[in-house]
Order: sequence, then structure tokens, then C-alpha cells
Amino acid sequence: MRIIKIGDCRISVGFCNLRCPYCVHLGEETENISPEKIAESLENCRSVYIGGAEPTVHGDLIELLEILHGKNIEITLKTDGLLPEKIRDTLPFVHRYVFEIKGDFEDLNSLAYLSGLSLERAKKYAENLLKSIRIAKENGKAIRIWFRVIPGFIDRERFRKMMEKIGRVDEILLYQFLSRPDWDKPVVGLEKPDFSLIRDLENAAKEYADKVIVIGEDEK
Ligand code: SF4
Repeated sequence: MRIIKIGDCRISVGFCNLRCPYCVHLGEETENISPEKIAESLENCRSVYIGGAEPTVHGDLIELLEILHGKNIEITLKTDGLLPEKIRDTLPFVHRYVFEIKGDFEDLNSLAYLSGLSLERAKKYAENLLKSIRIAKENGKAIRIWFRVIPGFIDRERFRKMMEKIGRVDEILLYQFLSRPDWDKPVVGLEKPDFSLIRDLENAAKEYADKVIVIGEDEK
């Protein structure tokens, strides 16, 4: 498995099936580490967070999940949701899914721009993302929905429309787009939102989740 980093009971894998213009992970160096070796380095963890780039594109993900699950380690899997059949394969092992929403999945032009996909692929991505979330919900998994808040691409109305499609979840995380090289690569036309937008979405999010988390410059 191509790994960017392992530490603090978190695995960051390399490679992704999206091409978000602000991504800081796509160009990062990776190291090939076997699922057994990865599991060995996590032996003291009771729970593990697997994210990255995109875990579901790795052929040996299930092997890693099987080993961790066999050690009674609780697994959280972060994914873009583009591959619902891969999500289905992970169901026996994963306790919680984190689905990152790249952009308004009802506005294909902005979704295509923010995910780096063609319009046709963005349409498939929007369908598959909702399907992946549905699969996880139907199977009783804990779900966190992760929104990257970029001004011009999300507001209260768009947020509500998306959450009406997704339905109630356990947690919503609102992440302030920071346009800072260590968090999000600065991109012309993508600006850091004013924190009042985050607070507005936070209030709306309370209707759809038991817990709302805010990550940004003013709150981590
Ligand atoms: S989904 Fe995440 S890892 Fe993949 S390209 Fe977008 S920002 Fe990068």
C-alpha cells in the first residue's frame, strides 16, 4: 500500500481518484508498506483513522482492514465516496465513515471544478457519493459528513439542499478553506471564507447532525 505517513493512530495513504485543484496530497512522496507492517506499527492503537488521499483506490485496503479488525481495532475510514462498491466491501470492518463533500453535488459545474473531474465524471461522482453514503447508513454505520467551506461554492441554501438529500447523520464537520500551503494549496479564485459563513453553516448543520465540528483558523 502506498503510504504518505503513519502516526498517532492515523494512516495517510497516497493516490486519489479526484484531482482537486487545492490538493496538497497528490504530489506527496509515498512509500510502499505492506498491510502487515502497517498493522504492526499500530499495535498500541485502539482505534485507527485511515484517510489521505483516497484509501478505496488501494487494492490491499481490505487486507489491511481485515488485519486491523482482527486485532479489535476500531476503524474510521475517510473517503470521497466515488467507489460505492468498494465501500460495500469495507462494511464488515469499518465502524465509522467520513465522507468528504467536495462541492455542491447538485451543481455539476462547480463540482467538476472543485474535484478536477470532467462534467460527465462529476455527474457519476455525485451519484456515487450519495450511493456510498446510503450504503453506509443502511448498514448502521456511524457517519461524519465533511464539508470544505469555500466561498462562492457553498452557502446556507446549498448546504440545506445537500443535507436534505443526505439525511440525518451523526456528525457534520465544517472545514474552513484556508488557502495556505500546509492545508490547502492556494488557488486563484478560491478564497478563504469569512468565519461568519462557517458560523451560519454551523447553525444550519445542527438540524441535521447530533454533533457539529468546526475546523478553521479560529477554532481547531
Ligand atoms: S479528494 Fe482529497 S486527496 Fe483526493 S484530490 Fe481531492 S483533496 Fe486531494
